Amino acid sequence: MRTAIIGSGLTGLTAGYRLARAGHHIEVFEQNEFAGGLASAIRAGNENLDRFYHHIFVSDSDLISLSEELNIDGTINWYEPKNAIFLGNCLYPFTTPVDLIRFKPISIFSRIRMGMTVLNAKLIRDYRHLESVTARDWIIKHSGKDTYEKIFAPLLCSKFDTDADDISGTWIWNKFKLRGSSRGKNFFKEKLGYMDGGFITLANALIGKISEYGGVIRLNARAERIEKAANGKWHVFTQKGIFEYDTILFTCAPQVLAEICRLPEDYERHLNALRYKSNLCLLLELSKSLSSYYWITVSQKDIPFVLMIEHTNLVGMKEYGSHIVYLSRYLDLENQLFNASDNEITGKFISGIKKVFPDFKEEYILRARLHRARFAQPVITLNYNNLMPGIKTPLEGLYLASMAQIHPEDRGLNYSVQLGEAAAKTILGG
Ligand SMILES: Cc1cc2nc3c(=O)[nH]c(=O)nc-3n(C[C@H](O)[C@H](O)[C@H](O)COP(=O)(O)OP(=O)(O)OC[C@H]3O[C@@H](n4cnc5c(N)ncnc54)[C@H](O)[C@@H]3O)c2cc1C
Repeated sequence: MRTAIIGSGLTGLTAGYRLARAGHHIEVFEQNEFAGGLASAIRAGNENLDRFYHHIFVSDSDLISLSEELNIDGTINWYEPKNAIFLGNCLYPFTTPVDLIRFKPISIFSRIRMGMTVLNAKLIRDYRHLESVTARDWIIKHSGKDTYEKIFAPLLCSKFDTDADDISGTWIWNKFKLRGSSRGKNFFKEKLGYMDGGFITLANALIGKISEYGGVIRLNARAERIEKAANGKWHVFTQKGIFEYDTILFTCAPQVLAEICRLPEDYERHLNALRYKSNLCLLLELSKSLSSYYWITVSQKDIPFVLMIEHTNLVGMKEYGSHIVYLSRYLDLENQLFNASDNEITGKFISGIKKVFPDFKEEYILRARLHRARFAQPVITLNYNNLMPGIKTPLEGLYLASMAQIHPEDRGLNYSVQLGEAAAKTILGG
């Protein structure tokens, strides 16, 4: 059986590995000149470093098991992060429950309510009643309007831009639950994981296995069109030629599938209704650390990014040769900022750093690289369960496994592995 996988992110590579092991001849098509998708890497000093910041949680069992199977679980290290929130021009520590109790911008009553909301999230087993409630209404009901407006409204806005008010309660519930579970038994200590050499270590191990089984990874090979031929086989059209397969697994955004493949009208409409946010991520190599925090959530609308992640405050300096900081912002593809020049965006982000750290000087920047992801975060609207397409498409031999098919969990590396496994199982008829 010849199977094409479109997209070399963790979903495509996991499925590719499973199918290759089961005897399929696998060919992976990747539009970029590098593999790994959002988990791809760049070089910083003598190390590989994730192009977009990543960490995993102790509950990410699918990724951890796959790493064990590939004998790379020894590269996962666990760290205790220090987190903060920047709000009203002040930086507040926000790592432990004690930090929440001391968090002055909201009343003590609101702090207790917020703590209870996060704790209770872990106890909710059946999330279905949250599907038809917005995150906004759910937070206001359980934590109060002040907490929503000061903490969560700017956050939802920065993550979902114009869709912030329509995001499902399931999404925020799951975020609370995840942060709770990353504390394990000791509620006072959160643990986050990172792989030596970044998560490209996992992607490379999967590529190694696919190659061992005789599979091929085609880089710089954008699938421009996919089409079922008269002989019943699937054709993938690229600039390098036309390739023929029995089966295709498409792992990119559903709307891209609708662009490049003729689909039944209803199904095409369905796929086009699934929307994504894009991401701007400025990666800075600095000669001086910004602070002692790993993760700073920026809840202030006059700052153009929502997160400041000082990666080296989590994993140490390794051989990066600098302090590594990511500044991140999610926004609509049509947003002017997403379409501005690299220089303009970099300039705006650097001005934002100075608002958080007034002593910051541009001369600390050794290198700045801006990365854009067109499809970074599916927009999880009300009743998303009903919107989510299955892995089988209406066309025989064509399968879809995209970030938009991860729910109620939010998209993430672990869930890409899980989805890749599920896609392979579906194709194998399990
Ligand atoms: C800023 C940011 C931070 C994140 N942080 C975390 C985190 O801390 N922890 C975590 O677990 N997850 C995190 N994630 C999520 C995680 O990166 C993703 O869930 C995961 O990498 C998605 O993998 P994927 O294979 O589904 O998709 P992708 O990685 O997007 O792979 C899809 C691939 O398809 C390719 N492609 C698209 N169209 C075509 C075409 N026509 N032909 C050929 N190839 C094509 C793309 O180039 C891409 O390589 C983060 C994501 C972002 C954007």
